[in-house]
Amino acid sequence: MRGASILLALALAACGGGGGGGEDLGTAVAGTVTVPPAPKPEKPPTTWSAAYSGNYTSVSYDRGIQYVVIHTIEGTAAGAISWFKNPDSNVSAHYVVDYGGAITQMVQDKDIAWHAGNWDYNVHSIGIEHAGYAYKNYWTAAEYQKSAALTRWICLTYGVPMDRAHIIGHVEVPGATHTDPGPYFNWNYYMSLVKDEPADLATSYKAMEVTTSTLNVRSGPSTSYSVIGTVLEGQRYVRLSSSGGWSQIQYKGNVGWCYDGYLTQKTGVTGILVTSDALNVRSGPGTEYAVVGTVAIGQRYALVEGANGWKKIWWGGEERWVYGGSTSDFAM
Ligand SMILES: [Zn+2]
Repeated sequence: MRGASILLALALAACGGGGGGGEDLGTAVAGTVTVPPAPKPEKPPTTWSAAYSGNYTSVSYDRGIQYVVIHTIEGTAAGAISWFKNPDSNVSAHYVVDYGGAITQMVQDKDIAWHAGNWDYNVHSIGIEHAGYAYKNYWTAAEYQKSAALTRWICLTYGVPMDRAHIIGHVEVPGATHTDPGPYFNWNYYMSLVKDEPADLATSYKAMEVTTSTLNVRSGPSTSYSVIGTVLEGQRYVRLSSSGGWSQIQYKGNVGWCYDGYLTQKTGVTGILVTSDALNVRSGPGTEYAVVGTVAIGQRYALVEGANGWKKIWWGGEERWVYGGSTSDFAM
C-alpha cells in the first residue's frame, strides 16, 4: 500500500438547473469554493549531523515512504551518533532521539538509511533510533513526545497512515532478528501522541471489569468473528486498544475482543507487563505447580494478587500465576 491520498472535499456550488417552470437554462455554470489547505505541522527542531556516506544509500528518485520504524539504541544517543559516523558500522538511521527529546538527523529523508535489516523496509521507511534499551524502562516523557511529534510530521508530510501497520517496531519488520523497541515501549501512549489525541502515559492502558456472568471473547471486534473463549463477571482485563465499541484484551497468551457493553472501567488497578519471553503460566505460586500455558513478552494482564514473588493474574477466564521477577507493574 502506497501512501494514503489526502482527500480534499471541494464544495461545488452548482448554479442553474432546478429552476422553475421547466425553463431550460442551458449549460450549468459551476462555481468553485476555494478551500484553504490544511495547515502543515512544523517539523520538530532537529540538529543535522551526517552519518558516514558509506553507511546509507543516497538516491535521487522518490523512494515511496510508507513506514516509520521505531528502534532503541541499546545505549546512548551520543553512542548511536558516533556509531553511524563510523565507516566500520555499516548502519544508520534517519533520526536519533535523546532522553531529553533532542533530535539529531543523520540521513536525509529522501535517502535510504540502513536500520531495518530488510532491504525493502529500508527502502520504504524512515528509521528513528531512541536512547535506551529494549529491556529497560528508561523511556522518558520528553523522548515519547518529541519522537511522536516527529512521526506525526513524517506521516502528514509523506502520507504515511497513522496506524500500527505503518508505524512499527523493528521487531515487526519481516525477518527481524531484533526485538526493539521492547516491551516497555508504550505503543498506546505513543500512537495517541502521534494522532494528536489526549494522551496520558500513566493511564493509556485501561482496566476493564466484566459486568455480566459470562462474556464471549471473539477473534475480532464484532459478533461476526468467532468465539475463542469466555471471561467471567468480576474479572479484569487490560484494554490494549478499542474499535467500534469493542475492547481488545490479552486472552490466554493471545489477543481477543469483548463487547464494551458488558465491561466497565476500573481505576486504581495494578497491571503486570510481561518482560521475559515465553514466561510459564502455572496453576499455583511456585515452580512445583503445573504449567498451564505461556505468556509472551510485552503482554499485559490485570493483577489479582501477589504472593512470595509470584503474581496471580486473570489469564483468560481463569486465575493463574506467573513468576513476578519476569514482570513489571504498571498502574491503570
Ligand atoms: Zn532496531
